[in-house]
Amino acid sequence: MSFLPVLPQRVPIPPSFYAEDTEAPFETCLACDRPLHQDGTEYVIEKGYRSFEAYDVEETVFGYALCLRCHASLSQSFSAQSRQRCTAYLNEHVDLPRRTASLLDQDSLDPTRWTQHCIVHDTPKAELCEYQILAHCRGTEMLLTHLPLMIGGPAVDELVQRLSNETLDELGGFRDEHFGLPPELKGTLQGPVLA
Ligand SMILES: [Zn+2]
Repeated sequence: MSFLPVLPQRVPIPPSFYAEDTEAPFETCLACDRPLHQDGTEYVIEKGYRSFEAYDVEETVFGYALCLRCHASLSQSFSAQSRQRCTAYLNEHVDLPRRTASLLDQDSLDPTRWTQHCIVHDTPKAELCEYQILAHCRGTEMLLTHLPLMIGGPAVDELVQRLSNETLDELGGFRDEHFGLPPELKGTLQGPVLA
């Protein structure tokens, strides 16, 4: 009999969550520059991909890591109405505890299985032109919880439609400050929507 708390399973961070420029795990928080591989710092990685079916290639549109403190402050900048609407939308479409239990109840804990289908519409990754992936990490390991997950472009659009103008302004400010995305990419892939 064990009295140890149930800790999440951990796996090495897979390359799909690496930083584009170093081809290695993100090392610092995008917002506060805190080193991420020390003192058990936990952080969230979000990456957006766009694929070009005709050429069978995909490219990273954006990618960053945010320490949990910065992630929480971004999330708090969302209006209460936006948060409620996004939570309601996700609850309506996804049973996260059930999904997590079924993913963990397998012989192998291959983390890529967490991101094969859109969490909202179950669309396979290969059928999506755009998608975002999210992960919760500690050091150089990824925690297998409700994350990682993948969300397809259409579901991102539906979430964005549930955000108030005030929240969209906050997100726009965040993007402009940290990414400076070119205008043609400011449409569908909005950066953090699941903050
Ligand atoms: Zn930070």
